[in-house]
Amino acid sequence: MPTDKQTRLHELQGKYISQLPEKLNAIDTVWQRARDDKDISYLSQLRQFAHNLAGSAGTFGFPDVSAEARKLEELIRCLDFNHGIDSATSEIIADAIQRIVNYVEHGPTQYDTQLSASTSISAKSDFDHLIYLVENDASLAREICTQLHYFDYEVEVFSDATQAMAALSTKKPSVMVIDVAVSNINFIAEFHQPVSNHAVPTPVIFISATDDWRSRLAAIKANGRAYLTAPLDFNDLLEHLDQLTIRQAPEPYKVLIVEDMAVLAEYYAVVLRDAGMLIRIVANIDNLLEVLSDHKPDLILMDVYMPQCSGLDLAQVMRQMDELLSVPIVFLSTETDPLEHLHAMELGGDDFLQKPIADDRLVIAIRTRAQRFRQLRSHMNHDGLTGLLNHAAIKTHLEQEIARAQRLSQALTFAMLDIDHFKNINDTFGHPAGDRVIKSVARMLNKRLRKSDLIGRYGGEEFAIILPGTNVATARDLIDNIRETFTAILHQSNNQKFNSSFSAGLAQLSTADDLTSLISNADQALYQAKQTGRNRLCIS
Ligand code: GH3
Ligand code: MG
Ligand code: MG
Ligand code: MG
Repeated sequence: MPTDKQTRLHELQGKYISQLPEKLNAIDTVWQRARDDKDISYLSQLRQFAHNLAGSAGTFGFPDVSAEARKLEELIRCLDFNHGIDSATSEIIADAIQRIVNYVEHGPTQYDTQLSASTSISAKSDFDHLIYLVENDASLAREICTQLHYFDYEVEVFSDATQAMAALSTKKPSVMVIDVAVSNINFIAEFHQPVSNHAVPTPVIFISATDDWRSRLAAIKANGRAYLTAPLDFNDLLEHLDQLTIRQAPEPYKVLIVEDMAVLAEYYAVVLRDAGMLIRIVANIDNLLEVLSDHKPDLILMDVYMPQCSGLDLAQVMRQMDELLSVPIVFLSTETDPLEHLHAMELGGDDFLQKPIADDRLVIAIRTRAQRFRQLRSHMNHDGLTGLLNHAAIKTHLEQEIARAQRLSQALTFAMLDIDHFKNINDTFGHPAGDRVIKSVARMLNKRLRKSDLIGRYGGEEFAIILPGTNVATARDLIDNIRETFTAILHQSNNQKFNSSFSAGLAQLSTADDLTSLISNADQALYQAKQTGRNRLCIS
């Protein structure tokens, strides 16, 4: 069964092949004019045709046409236009064109092998809330359930591992948490999950009363991803659960293709889309800036030779714009001269790929570049302790969201949160315990708010939340609910358990508001919440 991609690529190949006779006719016509009229403008047209053919034919299954066209292009480039075309040169050019025609008539080669060799990425694994807990201490099991439930985990409790294993075959949880005290340490060594075809074994977190190398090793062999020692620290457990259940697949990479030849641009788009990327094509440079701000690409794939302007010039223009300074630009061209490649890098390119390029190589080259860019950007915008947006990033987002809400006449609520008596927590339980409280606020906000909400660590123990499309009454219910849940969470430090709380101030965007006034309104509401007793929420 052909996949969507294969079907689409075959369609594109068909389209390309159907255009080939026209292309060959055009080549023949300009060549005759160049030879008979001795007009050099026809020679440069011929060179342009050869260039386009060299860059595209290989991709659609005509590698020999590509190679021949490249030689022809090179030959014309070396001609001394002032001297016209002597008969020997004329013969060489005519021969080259004839070979191109022959290769085209011979039909496409390699095409299907290239297709079947191409890889596609596997489907996304969604976040899964379900946890299996093997715990025969009923009161501990209840406590774990309650605490995990605050973070939206759903827990099924089994009093022994055999039952949990039996349940695995009907419903797969995202993680199994097994208290080894349930049986004994030999249990880990004998613990094997039933292996079915291609199934990925469920990750396991072991909780054990003893801490020795033999047990830890056995745990790893039993697919143990974490080994926690009793008494259990919920924060520890949650952190491991978060790591194991977080979405593995990243947001799809966004790539912008700037290429004048429509069928070639479409071909790259099909290949990259099949690898899970989001693609936009720009054929007309006039729309480039608009598309750039709209699509916000992780990478730009840029043709070098285009009739409207050169890709190298475009790259230079982009590098002068702050927001585009670091977006990777990968050139794609038939250019073979290494010096020209270096020159392209000097002008702001990050890589130079040679046309025609195999599907797999294209996907890998683009994916690695885009991934690195994402990582860099993420480090720049996120807070190291909590992973939330940092102060500068959340303010930038707020500015953008205010503009958007006002443009579309949509509601927007901004909230500031501050942990109560946090200094006391640090003083009583130590700075690391304080850090864990900060992280648990971050974790709870992440779990409870919607994907469209933006969460930032505004300062030490202060948080900022942007709720686009949300009026203040809805936001109040949402955040007050989170506040109430948070007070029930048990924090731990050296066997001491304690609770914590936060206060919040909310402000809804009005038409007269700007960034400064909205922040100041929320800040004042927060101040009021602190003044009137803390562990509460006020609205400006
Ligand atoms: P209030 O209820 O009025 O907010 O009182 P508070 O004690 O929470 O507020 P205050 O501003 O007096 O103290 C905040 C403390 O937070 C002071 C600072 O040392 C501590 N802090 C700031 N950043 C961090 C951090 O990253 N980790 C830890 N553990 N403490 C931090
Ligand atoms: Mg081009
Ligand atoms: Mg504070
Ligand atoms: Mg505080």
